[in-house]
Amino acid sequence: MGGSLVIQTSFLGDVILTTPLIAELAQRGPVDVLVTPGGAAALANNPDIRTTIRYDKRGTYGAALGTWQTIKELRARRPYAAAYLAQGSFRSGVLAMLTGAKERIGFASSTGRTLYTTQLPYRPERHHAERLWSLAMSECADPPSRDQIRPRLYPSDEDRRTVDALVRQTGGTSEPFVALAPGSAWGTKRWPYYVELAKRLSDNYRIAIIGSKADTAVAAAISVALPPGMVINSVGLLPLLASAELIGRAQAIVTNDSAPQHLASAMGTPTLTIFGPTVPEFGFGPLAERSAVAGHDTLSCRPCDRHGPRRCPLGHWRCMRELSPEYISSLLTEVLNPPVPV
Ligand code: SF4
Repeated sequence: MGGSLVIQTSFLGDVILTTPLIAELAQRGPVDVLVTPGGAAALANNPDIRTTIRYDKRGTYGAALGTWQTIKELRARRPYAAAYLAQGSFRSGVLAMLTGAKERIGFASSTGRTLYTTQLPYRPERHHAERLWSLAMSECADPPSRDQIRPRLYPSDEDRRTVDALVRQTGGTSEPFVALAPGSAWGTKRWPYYVELAKRLSDNYRIAIIGSKADTAVAAAISVALPPGMVINSVGLLPLLASAELIGRAQAIVTNDSAPQHLASAMGTPTLTIFGPTVPEFGFGPLAERSAVAGHDTLSCRPCDRHGPRRCPLGHWRCMRELSPEYISSLLTEVLNPPVPV
């Protein structure tokens, strides 16, 4: 088969941040990608990918069958020239070996590193998109340009039509709107004042709400707090790349440290990311050209967890509760109205 295989079976945000690596490798030859079904949705229409192989770790018939089906597909496609371990579990390392790839390249800090032929340093000080991109580079390579580590997503014409229809149904076509993404899989990463922020913004903008079905309650709270016709509520309604398309049309997005931030980075939408128990220094901040971050910088307990705990271990959750709607609103104004260069 030849070419490269990129293995990335982590969260959606990690998949999006792997697209610069995929683009870099595609300049050298064909690239296949092994991802979860959710990750595959993010990579649809990506012109840098020859084949997307789905690895359903939590499929209907359980992990064992999903793994067996993936192994069968990989064996049918072997051998690859090189496998890039963007996700570092031992299981991913075993899958890489089964591809017959002579080169297996990953981070020296990964659990599966003993199965790699090349272990590269994991640079905690760098953005994760750059860390992943650097898997394709020698250690002495120059730092990447901004464009080289820009994530890329490719909504289809159907995604665009879906968004056109939603915007029409909700009563507007060309009025400017700001997107709000109030959700996160981790409870402590959900900033609690999106309703108040939406009320403040609604003097000047319509509001688009981005999220999954899990965000239905907060989306309803925002919708009832605003006058009729002011809200484009997309929660639970859009395929992933249609959500990216909707975010791409927004004047800006306010989001927690979660996947919509990375959708916005890929679509170039000005971004304000609210960090609670996590910090941008972990390497997962916004990459859009106009972007800013909000966080409680004087709190000694912060950061307290790499992903964000389900509950605040100290019980007070000050990292989020003390970020007021006024403060977030003022930062957003700066993102929306950058200073004009003199
Ligand atoms: S311990 Fe501190 S950083 Fe962690 S959730 Fe609580 S307030 Fe936030």
